[in-house]
Amino acid sequence: MAATDNGIFNRIGVRPVINGCGVYTDLGGSRFSPAVWQAMEEVNHHFVDLPDLLDAAGQRIADMLSAEAGLVTPGAAAAIMLGSAAVMAGTDGTRSERLPDVSGLKSNVLIQSGHRYKYDRQVTMTGASLVEVGSKNGTRIEQIEEAVDGSTGMILYPAHLEPKAGSVPISEVAGVARSKGVPLFVDAAFMNYPTDVLPGLIEQGADLLAVSAKYFGGPNAGGFIVGCKDLIEAVRNVYFTRYESGDYLKYGRPLKMDRHTVVAVVVAFQEWLARDHDERLASWVTRVGILCDGLSEAGGVSAQPMCFTLDERVVSDPVNCAVLTFDDGGMTPGSLSDALASENPQVLIIPDGERLIIAVDEMSDDEARYVAARITALTT
Ligand SMILES: *Cc1c(COP(=O)(O)O)cnc(C)c1O
Repeated sequence: MAATDNGIFNRIGVRPVINGCGVYTDLGGSRFSPAVWQAMEEVNHHFVDLPDLLDAAGQRIADMLSAEAGLVTPGAAAAIMLGSAAVMAGTDGTRSERLPDVSGLKSNVLIQSGHRYKYDRQVTMTGASLVEVGSKNGTRIEQIEEAVDGSTGMILYPAHLEPKAGSVPISEVAGVARSKGVPLFVDAAFMNYPTDVLPGLIEQGADLLAVSAKYFGGPNAGGFIVGCKDLIEAVRNVYFTRYESGDYLKYGRPLKMDRHTVVAVVVAFQEWLARDHDERLASWVTRVGILCDGLSEAGGVSAQPMCFTLDERVVSDPVNCAVLTFDDGGMTPGSLSDALASENPQVLIIPDGERLIIAVDEMSDDEARYVAARITALTT
């Protein structure tokens, strides 16, 4: 389909987007591969017992990661919420039913002060409380050890913040968690490449691991939680199934999933693990090349191949974006990005101070050509 085919979204009354930002929930996540799309189409012709499907799908994913058990969830944020609820409720249905009333439950979730991040909100949604350990400048392992007490439900660790200065490494936190008998929950939402990172986190001692499907070509509303058998059993106890048909008004009923999405998460993850990632990275280099070549005639703008990371830093590799810098006297980053965003289709790119970043992860080659042509037209 041509980059400028505005069909379905314009008919609904919204402008489509050429995605120069990458994988973002607000832009709808990622693009399905033909195999994922085909699987969803096939699913649409058949019914299945959803609790059975969730168990089987979760086990398939757990097996791929050498984890004991798992469940597909409507995203990593949902997995954090479910994990937080699960460590409080265990396998007790009445506890699942009374959340977010946490009285008498192990409702404190420890987090290193420097690790506070947007998705820790999913912990407090359950009624649990976050307990910060250490200071913004850093935490020591002894402080975590001392902070664990009878009210500690789990330790939350956002894996992408491990490199942050002052962080206690995951393996050391895992040691404390094990010796104190408290679960370690690791948010590894986008740690899917290299593909041995996720099994490595389980090996290091993560008792529960949350992963988002939006970063591996799965549904925007997909993800999974994997980990120890007993904790996944507790997640099942707070999850959405058997609400009407079971004995308890289970906590997680609003976090429901359809069978298409559950299957798509499995198929997309299988594909991700089997994928030729060198080819994927090479296709980005090619696409950034198309973009930069197309911008050679643009006025007052220079484009440089760079890498925009999933935690939003600009580094040199692997190349997945063009960074635009501006000569004085021409368009500014703000005026160009505003002009692109006001078009139909909207072209959305990333503001970065005096620069603009155009990420090609979720672009086709045709779209890269189109974006270069629009910028050239606007700047000359
Ligand atoms: C995107 C993201 C999440 C949430 O994942 P969803 O699948 O969108 O719910 C959680 N943690 C991190 C670090 C993320 O980047």
